[in-house]
Amino acid sequence: MKNIAIYPGTFDPITYGHLDIIKRAIKIFDKVIVAVAHNNEKDPLFSVSERVELLKKATRSIKGVEIDDFHGLVVDYVKTKKSKVVIRGLRMISDFEFEFQMALTNRKLSKDVETIFMMPSEAYSYLSSKLIKEAASLGANLKGFVPSFVEKAIKAKL
Ligand code: ADP
Repeated sequence: MKNIAIYPGTFDPITYGHLDIIKRAIKIFDKVIVAVAHNNEKDPLFSVSERVELLKKATRSIKGVEIDDFHGLVVDYVKTKKSKVVIRGLRMISDFEFEFQMALTNRKLSKDVETIFMMPSEAYSYLSSKLIKEAASLGANLKGFVPSFVEKAIKAKL
């Protein structure tokens, strides 16, 4: 049986931080499904299908990675994929509180699903999609933060 992990998120858009987590996760799971959430609460720059396309392009060369999108609860989606594992990235202490709450809520919703936290390389531990978009809107060069095709896509939107 394949060991499958789900890496859910907004990915608006993918950064080298997300990519770092994906590369770490695929070393310990047979398959990693990166799943873009349809989340009405956020006001994303990219549509879900655009985010999926950027993720596909960024992960094309990583064997075992699949890109998908989902509606509803993460724990329900995890089960439909025959997985028991949610991967989340932890950048700094500031991520901890929210992630801890979410992991315990998900555990309450489904006792069969475990959340695993992974730390990115320290080179990416400060990166966030939100800050990158802000920096881009002020004219920053995004080299080192996101792949060049992602930078192009952000700049085309702004
Ligand atoms: P969210 O799903 O909370 O809206 P994102 O889509 O930005 O946020 O991120 C998805 C997951 O990837 C989250 O677990 C988040 O903590 C993690 N993540 C985001 N940026 C980084 C980074 N630079 N390094 C490691 N993990 C990250």
